[in-house]
Amino acid sequence: MVGKPATPHTKRANEPDDRVFDPLDLERVRRGYIGSLESAIVDPEGRFVYDAGRYEFLRDGRTPPDTVNPHLWRHATLNAHHGLFEVCDGVWQVRGYDISNVTFIRSATGWIVVDPLTTTATARAAYELITRHLGHRPVISVIYTHSHADHFGGVLGVTSEEDVREGRCSVIAPEGFLAETIGENIIAGPAMARRAIYQFGPFLEADPTGHVDCGLGNSTPIGPPGLIAPTIEIRRTGEEMVVDGVRIVFQLTPETEAPAEMNFHFPDFGALCMAENCSHTMHNLVPIRGALVRNALRWSKYINEAIELFADSSPILFTSHNWPRWGASDVREYLVLQRDLYRYIHDQAMRHANKGLVATEIAEVMELPPEFLAQEHTRGFYGDLVHNVKAVYQRYLSWYDANPANLHKLPPTEVGKRYVELAGGMDALLDRAQRAFDAGDYRWVAELVNHAVFADPANQRARTLQADTLEQLGYQSESSTFRNAYLMGAKELREGPPKLTQGARRARSMIRAMTIEQVFDTIAVRVKAESVGGVSAIVNWTFTDMAGTPDERWVLGLSNRALYSTQGRHDSGAAVKVTMTRALLLAIVSQDTTFVDEIGKGSITLDGDGAALLAIFGNLDEIAAGFAIVEP
Ligand SMILES: [Zn+2]
Repeated sequence: MVGKPATPHTKRANEPDDRVFDPLDLERVRRGYIGSLESAIVDPEGRFVYDAGRYEFLRDGRTPPDTVNPHLWRHATLNAHHGLFEVCDGVWQVRGYDISNVTFIRSATGWIVVDPLTTTATARAAYELITRHLGHRPVISVIYTHSHADHFGGVLGVTSEEDVREGRCSVIAPEGFLAETIGENIIAGPAMARRAIYQFGPFLEADPTGHVDCGLGNSTPIGPPGLIAPTIEIRRTGEEMVVDGVRIVFQLTPETEAPAEMNFHFPDFGALCMAENCSHTMHNLVPIRGALVRNALRWSKYINEAIELFADSSPILFTSHNWPRWGASDVREYLVLQRDLYRYIHDQAMRHANKGLVATEIAEVMELPPEFLAQEHTRGFYGDLVHNVKAVYQRYLSWYDANPANLHKLPPTEVGKRYVELAGGMDALLDRAQRAFDAGDYRWVAELVNHAVFADPANQRARTLQADTLEQLGYQSESSTFRNAYLMGAKELREGPPKLTQGARRARSMIRAMTIEQVFDTIAVRVKAESVGGVSAIVNWTFTDMAGTPDERWVLGLSNRALYSTQGRHDSGAAVKVTMTRALLLAIVSQDTTFVDEIGKGSITLDGDGAALLAIFGNLDEIAAGFAIVEP
């Protein structure tokens, strides 16, 4: 056991109620089981990537420990079933070796692979597992359902750049896939990566007092994603293709779970792939790692469209996380409830907002009705109603609740010091907080002691009490992401934040897919505004490996402490012209090399005054990874 025991309040909250939402789920996770991997997955250098064995403690039939919400416990035990499974003759899934599933569709001469997991190592292990049981077949096509890394990052484990280049393997994706893949988190990359550690908890011990689940799967693999650009983009709903003898009908669902996403139907198998638009949990309308708020209304409407298009001809449904469903009426009921869930959250959150309730109040008054509570797949094991109603509010009305008392609040440390003083000093505040802790009023303790920690992060009593409080909140959470966030907060209060390290390197393959504009936008959010007052600079760029495209010529300017870029022309007022390849610019952004080194080597030609280039690139901030979250 790595964490503290459950308090009597938590024990009471986590009392098993013997409630099994849908007994068929246990049948579904076992159905079609063929075989499992025997050992942990490591990369070619021997580094740890994923080990389903860490979750052995989640085996079926064990009594939920009092340190885990009993409903989350059951969900985690379902996710813990891992191996190769036959969905139907012609469709297989490998589940439980990554947060996502990979699906293999048998085509005339090989496999069509849907969503090749997050990392090369997990995808390769899945391919080897199916090869061991069903024999070798070449991968003749890869389909990415959407623009999130856990659905394309392992592509190099099932095919190669060469096979795709030479036409032996096609890569099919929804319209806008490449731009959204890079674009969704480019500006906020470092902050989102840090916050994602709280959402998924990859550094928590797998243990009944630590990590048990991620809602969509037990856990995330450790390793950078790869990427091969799509060779075929799906541009409209109803588009049909025959891929190596297999018919596929596509439905585009932009701005749903991901900005570029699609569902599709296999008429020959009667199988419907709902991508990540449906899963066996309520999803996030905004993940706690942070993201642009998703469109719940569109999401629900696209599920409705899928029902109209495919439900009559789909006795089988599978998704990119969790487990499949079988039976035409079951598939329809499932889709209907998923459709209604997102519509319910959207409509009711806005009904309350239009009556004047603010986000925190809506989160208090809205409860999941019995229709949704009765089913595993509409409960909040990943997303949480508390967080999702705030996402709806934020999408339409912003974070601001219209109360001017909240318009310009003091930041955490300033307000913390004043609250400590108001409470009669640190000890008085902590005495009151301890009494609230003893009474099990954990949400209030968290608020109160947060002021204390931000007023004096060195106060050990405050840190310990806050860690103990977040831990109990984590133990009680039905949502895996809430649990992970609370337990990460407790861990960092006890151990301190991680050491600041040099800016986390972005995955190379992701950088290679960046456009020039995206590179310049990434650079722009590193400009040290305080250092460039009164400085203007204009730089013309020619990218020799982009000749004949709109990306060949660019202007990058520094003006009033901000960068701007213009595509397709040069500026006659520029101080310097830079001639180089786009590939080299990307290598510099990846920190594989530097401007200075490459100028020295002659691979970059400067024509004019190099000081203008230095005015921009000499004033970029280094963004270190690992900033503090639960303390100043
Ligand atoms: Zn996913």
